[in-house]
Amino acid sequence: MTLLGAKQIRELATALDLKPSKSLGQNFVIDSNICTKIVRTAHVTSDDVALEIGPGLGSLTLALLEIAASVVAVEIDDRLARQLPITVSENFGSPENLTVIHQDALTLQNLPMDPTVLVANLPYNVSVPVLLHLLEKFPTLRTGIVMVQAEVADRLAASPSTKEYGIPSVKAAWWADVKGAGAVSRSVFWPAPNVDSKLVAFTRRPTPGDEILRKKVFTIIDAAFAQRRKMLRAALSGLYGSSAAAEAILIKAGIDPTLRGEALEISSFCAIASVAPDNY
Ligand code: SAM
Repeated sequence: MTLLGAKQIRELATALDLKPSKSLGQNFVIDSNICTKIVRTAHVTSDDVALEIGPGLGSLTLALLEIAASVVAVEIDDRLARQLPITVSENFGSPENLTVIHQDALTLQNLPMDPTVLVANLPYNVSVPVLLHLLEKFPTLRTGIVMVQAEVADRLAASPSTKEYGIPSVKAAWWADVKGAGAVSRSVFWPAPNVDSKLVAFTRRPTPGDEILRKKVFTIIDAAFAQRRKMLRAALSGLYGSSAAAEAILIKAGIDPTLRGEALEISSFCAIASVAPDNY
């Protein structure tokens, strides 16, 4: 098995006449050591069905195939989706453990196999919506590692009452424990991005409620952070009709109405949703 390095990635791109697309976040990993490290950090085992979003030219896919029972790779770019099984058969031997799906990851509703682990160098402009979508749609994903823009990684893993804490932190916390898993040098990519990257690890945990509660909670989170500097009673006034109505709900939930959303953990947002009316 040969993992892909800088030379092979450039040759593949030339053969495909590929000009990396900025809007699709096409920064390809050219250092096979980082791919091996990601797969190791994700604790992928031979029992795993690995889900990879945006396999690109296949750097990470090959490292995953080395360990996982199978890999399901979802790629939006038609040329890359068509090339991937060819690259795998040339460098790995047989593409039979690989399923390539040519689709926008944000529209995925089901997969041919239940994925157990997510391992992906996510396209940066859609990394948070993709991660939240996958956590929602694929409950068999028990763990994962994603590479994202450094600031996004910090937001996903942030604790309450920090400047990084916001919508991605609380929504991700509904589904999973999320932790930073290290920085990645710009030099491992071609083309080198003009932002830094970090790895984020998640481990799924039981959700604090059902889908009805989650939708209420997510609406409250959106409202609380839309006006981040406002106290909760003001930030939620639009949702509940008035600041007095919002204050009454917050007091019933045991939350100080003068706090800001950024002070609340996911459990406090759940407490608000549990006492708030359904039909707002
Ligand atoms: N995994 C490869 C690597 O590490 O070298 C490529 C990672 S690159 C940062 C992101 C990849 O995601 C690209 O191949 C891009 O075409 C693909 N992509 C972008 N938007 C996507 C989407 N909405 N759904 C699926 N794939 C997407």
